[in-house]
Amino acid sequence: MATEIAANLDRIHRQIEQACQRCGRSPDSVSLIAVSKKKSSALIQEAADAGQQAFGESYVQEFVDKQAHILRPLDWHFIGALQSNKVKYLRGKTALIHSVDRLSLAEEISHQWQKIQQQARILVQVNVGGEDSKAGSAPEQAVELVRQIARLPHVRIEGLMTLPPYADDPEQVRPWFRQLAQLARNIETVGIAGVSMSTLSMGMSHDFEVAIEEGATLVRVGTAIFGARE
Ligand SMILES: *Cc1c(COP(=O)(O)O)cnc(C)c1O
Repeated sequence: MATEIAANLDRIHRQIEQACQRCGRSPDSVSLIAVSKKKSSALIQEAADAGQQAFGESYVQEFVDKQAHILRPLDWHFIGALQSNKVKYLRGKTALIHSVDRLSLAEEISHQWQKIQQQARILVQVNVGGEDSKAGSAPEQAVELVRQIARLPHVRIEGLMTLPPYADDPEQVRPWFRQLAQLARNIETVGIAGVSMSTLSMGMSHDFEVAIEEGATLVRVGTAIFGARE
């Protein structure tokens, strides 16, 4: 019998396909990240059993504990606010860090990944709505930040991420998604050595379909898969 999580994943995959059809994109161009913060390892296993490969966590300690607990190889994305002094705990363990929003943090990531002679794959987080409560580079400063981070030897920028202002109606969020996609195109046009803008991480449970229509390649969905968090 299919579990509730498996059924939710099925439904979301269908929604992703339909959103792709509406805007003429290939469904292969969008990946689903299951945001498992505050959810147990057992629930992660259940999602993995249903075929889910990529998981997103927001808290360093929780990330490390769960990853140590779950032995099968999964892609672990770090999507939360990150303090420089905790980067060492993530070293070598992330598929992608979505939340790099300042040079000092990128420098510490590069420093840590240098120890394992690898490049950390990262996204630059942009605070499109300019909200005080949210992390992210100001949009006007993003190009310069990307330029500075691009000089670091052990990080590789693969695109941008945003957490836009909340609105019940996803249509009201659309302009923010559009702005992030435009910013990525601008950076691509400028052309910064070693920088790719192939990844756009945007869209959550209630607005991922609109985000896909605006170009999201990674959608970060928690509640719609695992149910409400505490
Ligand atoms: C919690 C979280 C999500 C998932 O939010 P849902 O509304 O539960 O889908 C996505 N992105 C980030 C950065 C988050 O912190």
